[in-house]
Amino acid sequence: MNRNEWKGKGLSVNILYSRAGVAQQIWIGNENGSLLFDAGDGVLRDILSNKLDVNEIKGIFFTHGHFDHVGSLHSLLGFLRMKGRKEELPILAPEGCTEVFSIVENFIRCYQDTIPFKISRKEIRSREILHIADMSIEAYSVVHCGSIKGSGILDGIPAMGYRISYKGETIAISGDTGMCPSLKELVKEADLAIIEATIQTSKGAKKETLEKVHLSEDLAKEVGKLAKDFILVHKGKRKSNIKHEI
Ligand SMILES: [Zn+2]
Repeated sequence: MNRNEWKGKGLSVNILYSRAGVAQQIWIGNENGSLLFDAGDGVLRDILSNKLDVNEIKGIFFTHGHFDHVGSLHSLLGFLRMKGRKEELPILAPEGCTEVFSIVENFIRCYQDTIPFKISRKEIRSREILHIADMSIEAYSVVHCGSIKGSGILDGIPAMGYRISYKGETIAISGDTGMCPSLKELVKEADLAIIEATIQTSKGAKKETLEKVHLSEDLAKEVGKLAKDFILVHKGKRKSNIKHEI
């Protein structure tokens, strides 16, 4: 069973959508505002159908630049422009995340001085701590390689997990990652860990895939137990006799 919402004392989570190779977007907020983590396909529909207020968005963070995490950034920016947003919008992504920054640059180039709000771009380094809406967000570099069916595992890309804290409460988001050493540190003792579990089981999965590309459900649970509570997200294909290739 999938849990999509979590409510702590000060922080709340709404997993708007999460499916490997399709889209992921996670909304985390407190009484001061909300942060959006990733903006994959359908993010605007997901926000509106959950009756969330786009004006609450104080920043958009990206875990990495794969299409299922960035695909609808342009739509969201267009919507905010149409709605006449005035407040500056920070867009934050791992250092070198070409996909995110090129979408933002293209948006600015298309609309220039008709964008009624300032977009501030920030390339994040590992262990950098940011403060937005009274939340502190610490970035943890994780290991994530792309893969193309038939071409195997590609090189690693800039990828981050985030640890969001507010009034003594902490939520960890793994982003897409293999079983890398920083992951345990990222998740440890968090009140909630949101962990990717793309692959159904480690059984039959290649070691290299589990270390460099994605976690399996059993590995994600193992990591999740280091936190007080966890939710598995970003599940891929689930069939009984499937070969796991993602
Ligand atoms: Zn993904």
